[in-house]
Amino acid sequence: MTTSPTILTGIRVNSEMTLGNFLGALLPMARLANAHSTTSHINIFVPDLHSIIDQVDGELQDNLIKSLKFYLAADLKPNQNIHFYRQSRVPAHSELCWILNCIASMGDLNRMTQYKDKSEGKESVNVGIFDYPVLMAADILLYDAVYIPVGEDQFQHIELTRRLAERFNHRFGEIFTLPAEPKAQIEFMQVANGIRIRDLQNPTKKMSKSNPAPGSKIMLFDSPEVAAKKIMSATTDSLSKIQYDMFNQPGISNLLQIEALVNDVPLQDVISTWSGESHYGDLKQKVASSVQTFLETFHERMSKISNSEILDLLATGETYANEVANTKLRAVQTAFHLR
Ligand code: ATP
Ligand code: MG
Repeated sequence: MTTSPTILTGIRVNSEMTLGNFLGALLPMARLANAHSTTSHINIFVPDLHSIIDQVDGELQDNLIKSLKFYLAADLKPNQNIHFYRQSRVPAHSELCWILNCIASMGDLNRMTQYKDKSEGKESVNVGIFDYPVLMAADILLYDAVYIPVGEDQFQHIELTRRLAERFNHRFGEIFTLPAEPKAQIEFMQVANGIRIRDLQNPTKKMSKSNPAPGSKIMLFDSPEVAAKKIMSATTDSLSKIQYDMFNQPGISNLLQIEALVNDVPLQDVISTWSGESHYGDLKQKVASSVQTFLETFHERMSKISNSEILDLLATGETYANEVANTKLRAVQTAFHLR
């Protein structure tokens, strides 16, 4: 029996991930899941219906399996409370999406800034882009999920989910659990939030996979030697003083941050070790070697996780997800006199 609120996270299918994505998003999520999975359900799902909005990808299946492997490589420990599933294999998501469409207004969706950004200047925009926040609401409400670790860019969608749930409950009775407000989400997710690995060449910006310059970012599948070289060439400053000061010395501070995260030690310890030193080369050597070891270990772990291990987790997870989601969907259908 579990009593704590369900935590839900969608993993966008990305075969390519930067060290920043891993250290800033995946690793904290895996740790959070491990920390809460004795008391909470942790739903980790692949939003494959969202993936098809922009593109039809022949490698989707391979890539989604690989994306889920990242969690295990990040030391997520599967247990009976951690559920892996594909959105498309739980048809209740699209069913509920349709029903929620009938209580959502055009005005609700027109306000979504993501939609505005993505559709701006385009001659033709598919309805999926417009409607995707409603599908996201269904993803959340089917499982009574309260915590959904998402970036700020998704807060508006969480607010929409809350609004739709409230509207529904007001008309039909308390069927949906409202997800926590964005502020409460941040408080809950504290550990997992706020880490921003910087661009190695321009450390005033964050590292981004869409930056075309290879030297700006470390990809998770870079060879460990290449990654070490990128660290050695990272932009620093001319102050010749190692200290943690993201504002005035973002390059050096970024290296200290990376050093702490890849070795899983507190940032404060790394800062104490290096503060006052002046040889940037020494720090770079150390971080380069840490990153190299980190990637070697990561690649080895990835190679040991088989596809069938992931497919087994999906099979169990999808049985669970269908059970929970269908129970909720039936209640909703009853409210609408669909049964
Ligand atoms: P893009 O350049 O296409 O926006 P991205 O590298 O910013 O790619 P996203 O797919 O936008 O990656 O984000 C995936 C996850 O990684 C999000 O949770 C985001 O907050 C996190 N993330 C992205 N960049 C960093 C970074 N530099 N440091 C820490 N976390 C990051
Ligand atoms: Mg981004």
